[in-house]
Amino acid sequence: MKLIDTHCHLDFEVFADDRQQVMTRAQALGVDHFVVPAVQQSSWQQLLALFQRQDFVHVALGMHPMFMSQHEESHIALLDHALQQQRPAAVGEIGLDFYSAESDRQAQLKLFRAQLQLAAEYELPVILHVRKAHDEVLQCLRDIPVVAGIVHAFNGSLQQAGHYIGMNFKLGFGGMLTYSHSTKLRHLAQQLPLEALVLETDAPDMTVMQYRGQRNSPEYLPYCLEALATVRGQSKAAIAEATSANARQLLGII
Ligand SMILES: [Zn+2]
Repeated sequence: MKLIDTHCHLDFEVFADDRQQVMTRAQALGVDHFVVPAVQQSSWQQLLALFQRQDFVHVALGMHPMFMSQHEESHIALLDHALQQQRPAAVGEIGLDFYSAESDRQAQLKLFRAQLQLAAEYELPVILHVRKAHDEVLQCLRDIPVVAGIVHAFNGSLQQAGHYIGMNFKLGFGGMLTYSHSTKLRHLAQQLPLEALVLETDAPDMTVMQYRGQRNSPEYLPYCLEALATVRGQSKAAIAEATSANARQLLGII
């Protein structure tokens, strides 16, 4: 059984001591590819350097909406340059996070649209972070269509899911499915077409129920698989095969 963790921040400091061991252990459990999205410009170089010889790691470059204080206007030109020079697998992690009332929505929109524009130009898929802003993100995608993408940790409505799927997006599901109180999310994961789903851990955040309170890791992706299989009443093998094929197709992994 081969799995792809479509969202894990393996470049983060919390993996500094055992990054390679984490990947080796995950691979022993069948998780053989990892998508690692960037969150801010200052981390791109390190991210690229860390994984440049590992063809099972797929790097995305971008600026995350929760790190607005780290982004500068000039970083858009730098992203343009980096996409051209480095040819990452995707543009990410980008999006809109309107969870906090204090967030500067206009600044987020401006940054997001500029990054979508680059993704469209370079025909790269995008990895989206969306909180309390699905309708706004969908509007941006109608204005600036991109080739494809993943909505990471999807938690919108069935209708919003349908709009994303219509734009060639996959929806990421992970650790939250392991919690019995995630009723709405489980219902959603049950109703969506399997062709639209990908698995992710979001390591080091959003740890599965089995390791609650600890650092999350791609090693725990099999628990996400199990939860999704249970919720949908399908075999783990069928879910693994379909979600991995979805991720491979989207990211151009052979
Ligand atoms: Zn993330």
